[in-house]
Amino acid sequence: MFVHPSSKSGVSRKRTSERVNRISPSGIRKFFDLISSMDGVISLGVGEPDFVTPWHIREAAIYSLEKGYTMYTSNLGLPELRQELSHYLTRRYQVTYKPDSELLVTTGVSEGLDLALRAIVDPGDEVIIPDPCYVAYSPCIVLAGGVPVPVSTTSDDGFCLQAGAVEAKITGRTRAILLGYPANPTGAVMPREELARLADVARDHDLLVISDEIYDRLVYGVEHTCVASLPGMKERTVLLSGFSKAYAMTGWRVGYAAAPQPILAAMTKIHQYTMLCSPIMAQKAALEALRAGEADVSAMLYDYNQRRQLMVKGFNNIGLTCFEPKGAFYAFPSIRSTGMTSEVFAETLLTEEKVAVVPGSVFGKSGEGHIRCCYATSTKDIEEALNKIARFVSHRRE
Ligand code: PLP
Repeated sequence: MFVHPSSKSGVSRKRTSERVNRISPSGIRKFFDLISSMDGVISLGVGEPDFVTPWHIREAAIYSLEKGYTMYTSNLGLPELRQELSHYLTRRYQVTYKPDSELLVTTGVSEGLDLALRAIVDPGDEVIIPDPCYVAYSPCIVLAGGVPVPVSTTSDDGFCLQAGAVEAKITGRTRAILLGYPANPTGAVMPREELARLADVARDHDLLVISDEIYDRLVYGVEHTCVASLPGMKERTVLLSGFSKAYAMTGWRVGYAAAPQPILAAMTKIHQYTMLCSPIMAQKAALEALRAGEADVSAMLYDYNQRRQLMVKGFNNIGLTCFEPKGAFYAFPSIRSTGMTSEVFAETLLTEEKVAVVPGSVFGKSGEGHIRCCYATSTKDIEEALNKIARFVSHRRE
């Protein structure tokens, strides 16, 4: 029998991989843990809708359970859901995917992101990401064996990744650009012309684009451009989206990936050994959402827009300059005028005023000097939180 040398010597053997050791636990989770031990906190921290999933969508899932749909589905997902997704993408973005070879139903964008990265990244390959960006991008690249290459964005460029800055970071190891617009945490929406310039860079350097478009439906007075719909981009884009945000379905765990056949086949190989399929009742609910959920999306969007305006105006009145978010459901005001770091600001605000916000630094170096505040919460809570933040800031300035 083989006995590992460390067992004999009594020195304990390393139990976790270098890859996992290299990533930190989510900075957002740390705040949630702190909040859960406190009473009476107003949270602008959690990035999820305060709406419950519309009743007809829940009912579709209940009905499917009553009918006894409790089994695995095909690894790719229910054929009727893939067919409906294909119609939806054609209708909405004039880009058509074949339901049997270019669409995969995933357990949320989270799984799609992991699959896409693991399917295309070899050890040491570089993936360019905007900074600040969604907290999962960098760790998922590391877990896939890759190297995240952040490219800074600021309010001056509307928090949009600039083609020139991206080009300057491209090396022989660059494999892909990972985009997430409309953006978490900034609310930035990438204008079509700027996206087209990035697409040129991807084509010129033969790069793939992974595009997380989970907030595509949540835009206010501007249009979202689907990366894959740009000329020549469908064949080099992995499009990721889902139901969590637009249909208030975060707990259902259902999303989808659309990609050229060879990439989708590689992603499906990983999916079939790790996840098998998204829960069948969630897929039935997603089908109902696509077929009959438009009115719900519009109604929620209307409410988010009211709250967005309230929050942005509130921060500017307090003197915390707020970039105007045109998408998603986050405001990203600057807190530089207080002289505090975003982490100290968030921690002190939580202790003194019981208002939870997320420090901008958890989204990357360029997020420092800002806080992320989610406005997918009640108007009453937003107003109360703004009053408390105003008091907190005025004390700091006395
Ligand atoms: N992508 C972005 C940009 C997000 O903000 C989130 C959740 O906050 C996700 C992906 C995760 O989405 P899902 O619930 O579909 O896994």
